Amino acid sequence: MAGVPGCGAAGQVDAAGVALKRRPGLHDGRDAMGMAEYDVVLLASFAQVEEWRKRHAQERSRGLFAQTVTTFNAWMMDLWELHGDGRAVVDPLQRQTVMQAAFERLACEHAPDDLAAQGADGAVGMQVASMHAADGADAGRCAGNRNGEDGVVSLALSPGVMKLSARCARDAAGVPAFERAVDLACAGNVPTELSVREALLLKGVGAYRDMLQGAGLIELGHVVAYLARHEREVFARPLRVLVNTGAPCDWHMEHLFESCSNLSVDVQVAQGAVGRISHGVALRFGFPSGRYAQAALVAQHVRALLGGERREGAGTAPTVVVAAKDPLSLYKQMEPELAGAGVQVCVQAQVPFSSTDFGRQLLSLCRVLQDEGDAWSKADLADALLPPFSGMSRRQGLQADRGLRADRLVAREAALASLRIASDTFSQLEEIAQDPEADILLGVFEQIAFGAPGRSQAWRMEQLAAASAVRSCTAAARLVGAGMAPCVQALRDAAVVVSYECVAETPQDAGRVVVTTQAAAAQMGLGSCDCLVLCDLTSEDYPVADKDDAAATLFGKLGLAANESALSRARCTFAMLMKLSRGELLCVRPLNDWDGNPTYPAAMLQELIDSYRADPTADDDVDDVFGLPDALRAGLLERGEELLFANASAASAEAVQQRACEVPRRPIGQVAPDRMSAVAVERRADDGRAIGFSPSPSQVEAYLDCPHKWFAQSRVKLEDLDEGFGALERGSYAHAVLQEFYCAFQALGFAKVAPDNLDEARRVMRSIAESVAREQFDLEPGSGRYVPTSQMEQREREACAKALVGYLDFEARFLPGFHPAYLEYRIDPERGVQYAGHPFIGTVDRIDVDDRGNAVVIDYKGSVGYAHEIAGKSAQLPGKVQARMYARAVERALGLNVVGAFYVSYGEKHAAAGAFDSRSIEAAHLPNMKVERSCCAAEDPWGAIDVEDFASLTFATMLDRTEQLVAAAMQAMAAGKVDASPSSSDSCAYCPVTACPKRGA
Ligand code: SF4
Repeated sequence: MAGVPGCGAAGQVDAAGVALKRRPGLHDGRDAMGMAEYDVVLLASFAQVEEWRKRHAQERSRGLFAQTVTTFNAWMMDLWELHGDGRAVVDPLQRQTVMQAAFERLACEHAPDDLAAQGADGAVGMQVASMHAADGADAGRCAGNRNGEDGVVSLALSPGVMKLSARCARDAAGVPAFERAVDLACAGNVPTELSVREALLLKGVGAYRDMLQGAGLIELGHVVAYLARHEREVFARPLRVLVNTGAPCDWHMEHLFESCSNLSVDVQVAQGAVGRISHGVALRFGFPSGRYAQAALVAQHVRALLGGERREGAGTAPTVVVAAKDPLSLYKQMEPELAGAGVQVCVQAQVPFSSTDFGRQLLSLCRVLQDEGDAWSKADLADALLPPFSGMSRRQGLQADRGLRADRLVAREAALASLRIASDTFSQLEEIAQDPEADILLGVFEQIAFGAPGRSQAWRMEQLAAASAVRSCTAAARLVGAGMAPCVQALRDAAVVVSYECVAETPQDAGRVVVTTQAAAAQMGLGSCDCLVLCDLTSEDYPVADKDDAAATLFGKLGLAANESALSRARCTFAMLMKLSRGELLCVRPLNDWDGNPTYPAAMLQELIDSYRADPTADDDVDDVFGLPDALRAGLLERGEELLFANASAASAEAVQQRACEVPRRPIGQVAPDRMSAVAVERRADDGRAIGFSPSPSQVEAYLDCPHKWFAQSRVKLEDLDEGFGALERGSYAHAVLQEFYCAFQALGFAKVAPDNLDEARRVMRSIAESVAREQFDLEPGSGRYVPTSQMEQREREACAKALVGYLDFEARFLPGFHPAYLEYRIDPERGVQYAGHPFIGTVDRIDVDDRGNAVVIDYKGSVGYAHEIAGKSAQLPGKVQARMYARAVERALGLNVVGAFYVSYGEKHAAAGAFDSRSIEAAHLPNMKVERSCCAAEDPWGAIDVEDFASLTFATMLDRTEQLVAAAMQAMAAGKVDASPSSSDSCAYCPVTACPKRGA
C-alpha cells in the first residue's frame, strides 16, 4: 500500500514545516476562519482536541457546530457504536490474553498427544502437519522450517512470538493484504511470499480473530474494515476530513480513506528537517557533564524559573513540562528539591505490572501454582506472603516463610493449605491466581490498597491500576473460556500507568512541573506550558534507525510498507514538541553516558541547532564541546558531576549534606556494651534449669578458629533459612547409622568389627543404613535430618551409605585391641564434670576401651586432615580441639585412662588423625594414618611448661595445655571478645562474613 491515492503530491509547506496533502478535485479545505470547511478534524490526542476546540470556538462566530473534532480511534469507535454489531473493541491486555489463549488452543488441537507437553523453556510447541505452500510443494521453503519430521513444522509459543502476533493484529488487522494472507494460512496454505513459520503465525492470528468474534470482541482494524464495507450507510453524505495528527496515515486510515468514496481527505504532516522555534519562545541549552548531573541541572533551572515568574506577579502559576526517557527516575531525583521550594511536581509514567506490590505478589503466587511437578520455589511463595496483600503482618509472613523453608519435604499443596488457614486474604489471592472467574475478589484487594496504613495516594493508585489490569485480562479469559495461564502471560509483560504527585510541604503556588515522556508531551495541547525541558537528547536515547525486525519483514512481504521512517516519526514528534511551550524551550544533552563515555547529540537536536547555522556543513562556526554556534550560546547551562551529594539530591551546587546523627563506627569484632550479654549466653538444661556459662566443645572449637566467624555463625546466625541437604545433614545421618550399627552388631555377640566378621558387619551395616534412611523422614524438620527430594540427592544418599559399608574394612583393622564400650556417650551436668573451670556438657561419638583399662575417644568426621593432627599445633594454632576436650572430660566422668583422641573419617577416604600416647598404642594398629603427625612424645621435654609445640609433649601434658587454652578462650568469650582473628588461612574459606577486612590477611 503506497499511500492514499491522490494524497501523494505535497501542497505548500507552512512556517512550521507542515505540508498539506490533498486529494485532487478538493478545494484547499480552508475557509476564511481557517478550518471551518472540514466536517471532521482528526487530531493526535484528546488534549489537542480540547485545545483545538477552545481555540476555534473563540475564533469562529458559529463555534464548532456540525464539525466533528476528535481522534481517529475515537471517531471509529463512535461510528462503530452507531453502525456496528455491538462487539466491544479489544484493549491491549485483552489482545495479549486472547492471543495467548488462541495459540494455546490451536497448539492443543494440532499437537499429537505427546506434543501437548511443554518444552524446556515453558513454551508449548505448535505443530501443524497439513501446511502446504500456496504455489504447490515448495520443498525448499518448507524444509528449512521442519523439525525433523516430514511436513511437520513447529512454532514455539514464546513471549517474542506472542508480541509479534499481537503487533500484527494491532497494526494490520482488517487491512486487505494482511487479511488475505491470514485467510490462506487458516485454510492450511502457505502464502507464496511467506515462510512456513510466518504462515503458522498468521494461522494463530486467524485463530485469534475467530476467538475474538466468538467472545463478542473486535480489533479496531476490523472495525475500520467493517465501516469501510458499509460505507454507504456509514458515510451517507460527502464528508471533508482533515487529518492533522502530524504523522502520515496509518494502514487503517489509508484503508478507510481509500475505500470510502464519500470521504475527501486532507492530511497535514510535518516534513523536512526540524526548523527554528517560533518567535517569542526562548531557546536554551543545558549540558550536564554526565547523567548524574542532569536532574540537578533541570531542578535548578526549573526552580529559578518558577520562583522568578511568581515574583513578577503573573496571573496563574506557570507550568513546566519535563520530557525524559525515564520520567519516573528523574521525578524521584527532583521531587524533594522542588517540593521544598513550594513547587508542585507530578509524573506520568508507566511501570511494569510486576513491579507494583499487588502485581508482584500475584505473579509470585501464580508462579508457585503453575510450576510443574514437585519443583516449586519457596522464594516465590515468600514474596506472596508479604503484607498487605497476603492479609498477614510482616512478622506473620516471615514466620510462615521460615517455617516453610525449614521443611524441605513440605509439599506445595500442604504449604498452601496451611497458608489458607492462616489467612483468608491469602486464600482469596490464590483463587484469583488460578481462576479468571474469581476476579470478583479483586475488590477485596482494592479495599486493602485503600485502607493500607502509611501508604501514599500514589501507591494506592498504582495498586488499583494493577488490579484493573488483572480485571481486563480475566474478563477476556472468561469470554473466550480460557484459564488463568494466558492472563499471567499477558500480565508478565504488562505495564500500568502511574501518576505520582508531590504536594509541596509549604505550598507557595510557585508553579507546577509535569514530568513525562517525549511521546506523551507531544500529545499535549499547543502552547500548553510556559517552559518545555527536553532531557536526554542524545543519539543513544533517541535513535532514528529504522527497525528491521520480524514484524517489518512480514509486513514487507505482504506489501505493507511502513508509511513513515523512524526519522520522519522523530521529526513529527519534535515538531509537535516545539509548539508546546509559550515561553521557553530548554534542550538538555548530557555530555557523557552513565559509564563516562562521550555522547552524541540526538538527530533532532542537531537539526534544531543546524537550522540556526548559515552552513550546517561548516565546522568552524560551532564550539568543540557543545557543538553550538555563537548565536545559541546565550543562557547556556552547565553542571559538573563532581558535586556528588548536590547532584544526587538535585540540589544547588552549594548544598552540603547535613549529618542527621552521629553513629560511632565500631571496628569489626567489637560488640556494643549493652549487647554483650548476647555473646556469652547462659546454658540451660533440658528441664530449663540454668547451668551457667558452658559452651559446647564444638562452640569452643569454632571460637578458637576465629572468634568473629563463631559470632557470625552462632550468634548472628547468618546461615540459610532453607533446610539443607549438605555436609551437616550427611554427618547427622552417618552418626546415627554408625551408632545403630554397633548397637545391632554388638547385640549379635560381636565386640568389634574384625577381619573374621567383616561379611556379617557389612550385612548389618547395609540394613541399618537403609532403615536409618527411612527413619529420617519421620524426624522433625530442622533437626538435621538427611532427606533427599530428588533423584540426584537420592543417589548422593546412596553413595553415603555405600561409603559407610566401605568404612568397615578400615574399622576391622583400626585399634584391634580396643572395642566400642560407649556410643553417643552424653556427659551432662549431673555428672559434675568440670572442664576449664566450667561445667562440661557434651556428647562423645564413641569411647573404645581395651582390657587394660585404657580408653580412646573417637569423633566421627566426613574427612580428616591437617587441622585434626596434633603436629604443628600450639596455643596460637590450636587446630581441632573437640576430641582432646572429650578425652579429658571422659577421664573425669568415667575414671578411664584415656590414651588417644581420634578423628575417624567415614567419608570417601577412610582414615584417622588426632593425638595418642605412643607408649600405649602401637602404630601398626592405626591404619591409614600419618602416625608421626598424631603421635605425642613418650616423655615431656625439659622445661615443658614453656614448650610451644603440643606434639613434643606427652599426651597427658598436651591435654592439660589444651585445657588451658580452652579456659583462656572461654574467658574471652565470656568477656564478649569477638575480634576477627583467624587461627589459620583456612579459617576464612567458608566464613559467611563476606566484608571482613581480615579475610585472607
Ligand atoms: S573472614 Fe576470616 S578473619 Fe574474617 S571473620 Fe571470617 S574467618 Fe574471621
